[in-house]
Amino acid sequence: MSIYDELGVRTLINASANITRIGGSVMPAEVLEAMTEASKHFVNLEELQRAVGEKLAALTHNEAAYVSSGAAAGVALATIAVVAGLDRNISQQLPDTTGLKNEVIIHKSHRNGYDHAVRMVGVKVVEIGTETETKAEELEKAINDKTAAIFWFQNALTGRGDLPLEKVIEIANRHNVPVLVDAADQVPPAENLWKYTQMGAALAIFSGGKDLSGPQSSGLVVGRKDLIEAIRQNGNPNSGIARPMKVGKEEMVGLLTAVKLYLKRDHEARLSQDEEIVAGWCSELNRIPGVQAERSIPNVAGQPMPRAKVVIDAAQAGMSCDDLILALRNGTPSIEVLPGGTNTIYVNPMPLKDGEEQIVLDRLLAILKK
Ligand SMILES: *Cc1c(COP(=O)(O)O)cnc(C)c1O
Repeated sequence: MSIYDELGVRTLINASANITRIGGSVMPAEVLEAMTEASKHFVNLEELQRAVGEKLAALTHNEAAYVSSGAAAGVALATIAVVAGLDRNISQQLPDTTGLKNEVIIHKSHRNGYDHAVRMVGVKVVEIGTETETKAEELEKAINDKTAAIFWFQNALTGRGDLPLEKVIEIANRHNVPVLVDAADQVPPAENLWKYTQMGAALAIFSGGKDLSGPQSSGLVVGRKDLIEAIRQNGNPNSGIARPMKVGKEEMVGLLTAVKLYLKRDHEARLSQDEEIVAGWCSELNRIPGVQAERSIPNVAGQPMPRAKVVIDAAQAGMSCDDLILALRNGTPSIEVLPGGTNTIYVNPMPLKDGEEQIVLDRLLAILKK
């Protein structure tokens, strides 16, 4: 009996995305083994964080690196670092930012649920632009001597008339303001682990629990040495504003192992395998009346990876998209796909384990042919 059976909790097949709500990702055996090994001994946590950070920095071609308890924690830590630096008095004052550099500039078009991790540090968010357009002058005008950073959210929201990141970095550098990039779900490609910092961003933040397939409660912050040092000083085990964002020895070692494996992985082979899966799904699904399936790229995170876009004509198919989603979820095995509007679902091969692509197709066909 599995632990989930014992708890009466159903497991599910993830054909959606690396979504925290349904468990994020599944760790390779090597990651788990490293975590088990790490769990057997006491160590000095700061010494381990530093040693792991040095390895992660070298692997990702960055000056420095830090393991956080998730990307959202990384976003908060990055904000803390630009406001407090190495000043222990400021650290103790947070989240009260009276008298400090306490403004963080964010594109209005980038505002999202994760920016709460910026705001919780006590800073004021200064919005630039509109939902659909942002001008360089607006960024220039927003920068003043209270500006602590510009936060850039790289995800599905990016690109809605926002300034190119290159332009943001150029303007920021001229004013000596750090640019922080939330790139939580921006791998693949693996090169993104160094792309943003090589472009000139001060820090870039990744989720350890999405495609990197490290521990669920881990994140990776890479970039400028002085800012990573400030994060160390403010992070656990030190008491302060970031103490609730604890990261354990197991997560540190687990994330390092996951990043090593990720960089060694044959990403081209994976891409062609996913292309094959999507092509196979589409050709089978397109035989069903009322169903139109096609390859769709990039995916929900903007990653250059294919998935199947499946459009349902409810009248012809005899069921709505919502019916299909529920039938997949409530069936055996339970399958999660990503809704994409009233008549569309996306079926994603990326988070699947080997062999699950056939189970997903069989379930789709069985439900739609009823
Ligand atoms: C998933 C995500 C996060 C949160 O990542 P966690 O590792 O779950 O904390 C933050 N920002 C963006 C853009 C994300 O997609």
